[in-house]
Amino acid sequence: MTSEKGLLIVLSGPSGVGKGTVRKAIFDHPDTDFKYSISMTTRQMREGEVDGIDYFFKTREEFELLIDQDKFIEYAEYVGNYYGTPVEYVEQTMADGHDVFLEIEVEGAKQVREKFPDALFIFLAPPNLTQLEERLVNRGTDSPDIIRHRIDEAKRELKLMNLYDYVVVNDDVDAARQRVQCIVEASHMRRARV
Ligand code: 5GP
Repeated sequence: MTSEKGLLIVLSGPSGVGKGTVRKAIFDHPDTDFKYSISMTTRQMREGEVDGIDYFFKTREEFELLIDQDKFIEYAEYVGNYYGTPVEYVEQTMADGHDVFLEIEVEGAKQVREKFPDALFIFLAPPNLTQLEERLVNRGTDSPDIIRHRIDEAKRELKLMNLYDYVVVNDDVDAARQRVQCIVEASHMRRARV
């Protein structure tokens, strides 16, 4: 454990771009030594998901109580459900000297930017919009209405990529994973120099 405060790493980008897959590839890789902040959500658990691993699943009432108690670094309502990053875990883990990794949508990333201007913001972009649409359909987890809604959101979100420190194109999961790890490593070197 180091005495220096850890880095906050934010991976964001449109739904369906493959953020979750790239995140899993990052955390499955032996070189990764940062910590993943598990989000809270009010959306329905999908098949194969585990409470406390994929998300902390909450009711709207529970989530709104946590909002009132200021328990989130950021939260956003996305396609009818709340998603948020718990403040306690992130602050404690960074204070302990570990890097913390968030995988969140763009509205939440904007809020993190206001509170943590020193965080590292990485935008994961699709090679093109058609591929994004195909991924959302092939994933088979959402109804056509929700998919339409997610694609509309994605078009809006893509316009925000120039607000990020880096853009990583997800043309290949392992290449994207490697690019993210290189960016984090370079940011550490830069921080060590200042
Ligand atoms: P999904 O329902 O597909 O798991 O996630 C939907 C979107 O919510 C994805 O873009 C995902 O990155 C984002 N998301 C997951 N956790 C959080 C969070 O804590 N805060 C915010 N703002 N977005 C999140």
